[in-house]
Amino acid sequence: MITVQAASPRLVLKAGRDKSLRHRHPWIFSGAIERVEGSPASGDTVAVVAPDGAFLAWAAYCAESQIRARAWSFDAADTIDEGFLEKKLADSIARRERLMDKGDAMRLVHGESDGLPGLVSDRYGDTVVVQILSAGAERWRGFWGPALAGLTGARCVYERSDAEVRSLEGLPHRVGAMVGEAPKHARIVEDGLAYDVDVVGGQKTGFYLDQRDNRVLAAALAKDAEVLNAFCYTGGFSLSALRGGAKRVVSLDTSEEALSLARHNASINGLDASRAEWVPADVFAQLRKYRDQGRKFDLIVLDPPKFAPTEKHVPNAARAYKDINLWALKLLAPGGHLLTFSCSGAISPDLFQKIVAGAAADARSDVQIRRHLGAALDHPVSIHFPEGEYLKGLWLQAG
Ligand code: SAH
Repeated sequence: MITVQAASPRLVLKAGRDKSLRHRHPWIFSGAIERVEGSPASGDTVAVVAPDGAFLAWAAYCAESQIRARAWSFDAADTIDEGFLEKKLADSIARRERLMDKGDAMRLVHGESDGLPGLVSDRYGDTVVVQILSAGAERWRGFWGPALAGLTGARCVYERSDAEVRSLEGLPHRVGAMVGEAPKHARIVEDGLAYDVDVVGGQKTGFYLDQRDNRVLAAALAKDAEVLNAFCYTGGFSLSALRGGAKRVVSLDTSEEALSLARHNASINGLDASRAEWVPADVFAQLRKYRDQGRKFDLIVLDPPKFAPTEKHVPNAARAYKDINLWALKLLAPGGHLLTFSCSGAISPDLFQKIVAGAAADARSDVQIRRHLGAALDHPVSIHFPEGEYLKGLWLQAG
């Protein structure tokens, strides 16, 4: 049995509550903790031990959150220091570069699933964006900027720690350059299409890299199609559909800034503006309006924002997902395709499919599932952390 010196702060778990940690799940909930020994501050590294003192993990403590600690390592021999974190970062980047084209747009670090709880980092050309989402990642804040610049050669590392989840960790929002200076737009090329990414004012880190593969699919399905891209943001699926030869692409979003950057992105690719319609509208209302007008679409993409940020939002979110899917199914032309997504971690792939099945029953639609869809390769899911599978989608085809 490996025991840990009594000197380091320790979390001693309740009897029978060590199972998930032994299965290498990285979260330790407050209800599993029998007592805290020593007086760790938020972000400090603590040893997590079983009731008999057996070592389970090194973890970052958080005094505020229900997730009282997040594991950095399950190996007692590890020391959580800059050398340890640098190796995790380097491994995370190297794994991707072995797997994907060394493209200029890539998620470099995907939090828990890459063994770096609470740390997200996306690369957009010469600019790397960082989101610090946990007290543990915050403790090492000064390290991430220079380390990422060193490992990637990026000219700018920009912090976008303005996600809502930070408040659960007792952390204020913070944005700004960590290294260098942010460009007005970071230019990336994805699947042969250029996009200008607004890392300072855009949503999340500026772009939704997770949908990369699904945008390629949309391009393949768009030939001669009437396309509806609901929740279009800066034009991701819209540009793919235009490039894929769509007859017309109608794109909806409530954000004027997003629509204006989407238009700009279409123009830098020289795409035919007369085939694109950018509509500032609420999707819930607009789908009903199209239904009243008797409009039909051959390809519909539904990629809404996260309706269920946490477990308690699931019932309302389920109603919202059902609503948009119901109306989208009613707008689908015979033989048409619906690509429908949920990026809520709290909604499992199974539950999402049930919600969409309920919508199809109400719409009296016998769509078939062509394929289950998910996030791109640079958004892996740790086998020990199923919550990491936040993006799930269905490719449906009408009869
Ligand atoms: N599919 C996009 C990402 C979508 S992000 C891509 O590939 O890049 C979700 C988008 O939904 C955001 O741009 C947000 O502004 C928009 N949005 C949120 N609620 C909305 C609503 N009720 N109606 C229309 N758009 C909405």
